[in-house]
Amino acid sequence: MIQRADPRVIEEFKKRRSRRRTCVIIAVVGICLSVSAAGGGIAGMPREFVDTVAFGLVVGVVLFSFVNWRCPACDGYLGKGASPKFCRKCGTQLQS
Ligand SMILES: [Zn+2]
Repeated sequence: MIQRADPRVIEEFKKRRSRRRTCVIIAVVGICLSVSAAGGGIAGMPREFVDTVAFGLVVGVVLFSFVNWRCPACDGYLGKGASPKFCRKCGTQLQS
């Protein structure tokens, strides 16, 4: 079942996709922090502290992504694809 393109859905999908990209960047920064702390601390912060912050960032990003990465029309989870054209659950067009 393919729904016709709804400009509001496409607009909302764009916002969610850009939020998701921001999240990926934050997660990468978290992982980089943790990796660079592997040899000791960063800027006087102990390694355990850096790891805890990095782990918190990654968990937060994963949770946010799970809430954010949903179809604007049916609220179904959009899966692992970076930029799906259609919702695999309801078939709504997500990009023009
Ligand atoms: Zn949907």
